[in-house]
Amino acid sequence: MPSPVPRGPAPTLGEDLRALERDFPYPRSLPTDPLAQVQRYRRDARSAEIVGVLASTVAVGHVKTIQQDLASLLARVGPDPRGLVEAFPRRMWRTFFHPWRHRWIRADQMGMLLLRLGEAYENYPGGLEEAFREGAEGSDPTERFAGGIDALSRVLRYGSLRETSSLYEPPPGYTALFPSPRAPGRPACKRELLFVRWMVRREAPDLGLWRGVDPAELHIPLDTHVYWIARHLRLTARRTRNWPTVVEITEGLRRLDPSDPIRFDFVLAHTGISGDCPKQRDWEICGRCRVRPDCDLWRGRPGGAGGAGPLRA
Ligand code: SF4
Repeated sequence: MPSPVPRGPAPTLGEDLRALERDFPYPRSLPTDPLAQVQRYRRDARSAEIVGVLASTVAVGHVKTIQQDLASLLARVGPDPRGLVEAFPRRMWRTFFHPWRHRWIRADQMGMLLLRLGEAYENYPGGLEEAFREGAEGSDPTERFAGGIDALSRVLRYGSLRETSSLYEPPPGYTALFPSPRAPGRPACKRELLFVRWMVRREAPDLGLWRGVDPAELHIPLDTHVYWIARHLRLTARRTRNWPTVVEITEGLRRLDPSDPIRFDFVLAHTGISGDCPKQRDWEICGRCRVRPDCDLWRGRPGGAGGAGPLRA
């Protein structure tokens, strides 16, 4: 019979997440992450930003498919993303990437995205960070960050913070690719939060190119793997993967590291992506897991928090 254990994250969580991070096999996981493509442009901030937007937009689905489809998209972009966006043949936006496709994301939508990036850089010579910072207003840090993501979403949708500024109408489904946390239903905006993490965090593997945004204000890009583990680490009990859940998990992580609350995002996501977490009690795999003492599936059992007796499944 499992022993009763207190609610909330285990007191060991911070220490165990740091151990997970310290021992994480980055050379195994990083090459499979879309961030690896963005890192190639780290010496050219504008190109890194462009490739970051493209890579985060297609960061949905199976990791291998993302890798393949992103590689073929970037082959069409060529070696100079900044030059392409500056001189993009706008009349060709529908056909530029044809016949590329990634799941439900179509070539015409990605062509429109290049067009919108060109418009955005005309309106914001300081780049997407300038637009983000223009939207990030107010005294409440969470609302300020949501305002920055909302501004980023509008700029990618319309090329400007104003909806009516472009001559070019977007294709069907385009604006839905860039949700805002202020929209009805308060979506989690995972792909935009992932892009902003890449640009803002100063520590590897992220690029730290947006020096005017404080990493302490970042919020977690909530993919299915991070959400599952966060629930089982008792960082949230919410059942919907939306903005309030993003905020709640981020607040829990902020208590572990106030200056860099989403530092564990990469390792949590790739623990799930790689199969290091089976999402069920399996001693063969969980026996090696650094956060097992904090995992709900093991609480009150031998090998987990509050458990007694010899380790066993
Ligand atoms: S203990 Fe097992 S189920 Fe829990 S997080 Fe670790 S690998 Fe996943």
